[in-house]
Amino acid sequence: MKEFDVIVIGAGPGGYVAAIRCAQLGLSTACVDAWLDAAGKPSPGGTCLNVGCIPSKALLDSSHHYHNLSHLLPQHGISTSEARIDVAAMLARKDKIVKQLTRGITGLFKKNKVTAFSGTASFRDPHSVEVALSAGGSESLSAHNIIVATGSVPVDIPVAKIDGDRIVDNTGALAFSNIPKRLGVIGAGVIGLELGSVWSRLGAEVTVLEAMPEFLPPADRTIARDALKLFARQGLDIRMGCKVTASKATRKSVSVSYEDADGAHKLEVDKLVVAVGRRAFCGGLNPEAAGLKVDDRGRIEVDSQCATGVDGIYAVGDCVSGPMLAHKASEEGVAVAERIAGQAAHIDHSLIPWVIYTHPEIAWVGRAEHQLKSAGIDYHAGSFPFLASGRAQGAAETAGMVKILADAKTDAILGVHIFGAQASELIAEAVTAMTLSASSEDLARTVHAHPTLAEAIHEAALAVDKRTIHL
Ligand code: FAD
Ligand code: NAD
Repeated sequence: MKEFDVIVIGAGPGGYVAAIRCAQLGLSTACVDAWLDAAGKPSPGGTCLNVGCIPSKALLDSSHHYHNLSHLLPQHGISTSEARIDVAAMLARKDKIVKQLTRGITGLFKKNKVTAFSGTASFRDPHSVEVALSAGGSESLSAHNIIVATGSVPVDIPVAKIDGDRIVDNTGALAFSNIPKRLGVIGAGVIGLELGSVWSRLGAEVTVLEAMPEFLPPADRTIARDALKLFARQGLDIRMGCKVTASKATRKSVSVSYEDADGAHKLEVDKLVVAVGRRAFCGGLNPEAAGLKVDDRGRIEVDSQCATGVDGIYAVGDCVSGPMLAHKASEEGVAVAERIAGQAAHIDHSLIPWVIYTHPEIAWVGRAEHQLKSAGIDYHAGSFPFLASGRAQGAAETAGMVKILADAKTDAILGVHIFGAQASELIAEAVTAMTLSASSEDLARTVHAHPTLAEAIHEAALAVDKRTIHL
């Protein structure tokens, strides 16, 4: 039996960050992770680095550059003869980035003296686990503190069973060796929009079938409406209120049957991506042996401090409640490590930013107008379109807007919503402002460099008080 102060189970953004922070705080730390790459080698980083955030953004960037050659650069007076895309080279670049970053985690573990085990950890009791090692054999580990960060897996639906060839999940959709002529996507959520955009920009005819009648329910309603229109102009055929009833894959294509308000329909595609959400994963963990409670959605039950109620055991990231986002997982990992080391740590779960990496990007933090209305909170709204921004004009990136919502009495910022180029970067200012309990007046009185896209945030803050300058 090998003894540690802390065992971390899972090396995704929740687990690997928790392990590094524990080690920084002087705790002897082991981190067990089951992920193996295509060659069967340990590949820490979890969903995020292997088949999630990083590879999807690599392909989004590649496809964005390709698309810009014919759609953006001509506006700048730049033209090329025919643009070509080498899909194999694009995928190889993505795979190289994944490899560099996953190997980077192995390096960070060594630097920080985290002992890494490749294999599946299973609880024997609340303070010990058995690791079935990837290389064969097993190892028994014990620790007073155990952090569970086992992540999530895609939800599967019986009407579209993943076969890894014609019908795929996010892993398959990140690795098509050719551009499908016709691509079907089930689910107009984050993955559907991001991976649908990648293949659409490269020339695929993309049809997205969404069950709900409303597009992107958590986003600002005006932004969701504008985005749906713009994505349609970009070539994403997003059909709302569709119930997929069956799918049949043949050697050459997939036939998808669905129903909507107009009746029954059939869609023929070359590949079908199923992106209908993710569910918490505790496979092989044997949480019962530790006395952990698992809710009806398979999530480990925790309190607001990520404590499970079993002394010394915590759980973080996608395997617990809350948004399934890498930065949420990592911040929970850091906070738990600091609590184990006896420090006070706090995360404000109401200030976790969201970003959808379409083009333009959609990003928000805090609450949306419809949420404030249903909570009966009186607010003022100020918005500013990128069309009126000099920097956006210069860049030919004029689509979208910034909207700021502030409390009608106190002027405290309650939500910031951005639809526009670089929204993923711009939202950081809003998160910082809200974390420091800023008012919209604070943003309005903050000097923003000119010309920048961030000036749209400044102008939206001025608009809350009806004194915007450039509109
Ligand atoms: P995971 O990253 O899922 O890691 C869990 C790890 O635990 C895995 O390596 C798994 O093998 C291991 N494991 C499980 N059980 C055991 C066991 N018993 N023993 C040992 N190891 C075990 N989020 C963002 O914030 N931004 C994005 O842009 C973004 N893009 C995404 C794109 C896609 C296509 C997908 C699928 C997801 C994306 N996400 C994004 C979500 C993000 O990937 C997850 O929220 C994040 O990875 C969760 O981190 P985690 O550490 O909780 O779990
Ligand atoms: P999602 O929850 O974002 O979207 C799933 C969509 O599928 C929803 O709109 C839902 O109504 C729809 N749906 C569900 N069942 C359906 C059915 N049977 N037929 C048609 N539509 C159906 O889930 P996702 O896109 O699979 O992504 C999973 C999670 O991964 C996200 O919620 C997010 O937490 C994370 N993620 C984040 C990012 C990012 O931060 N940029 C990117 C990708 C994934």
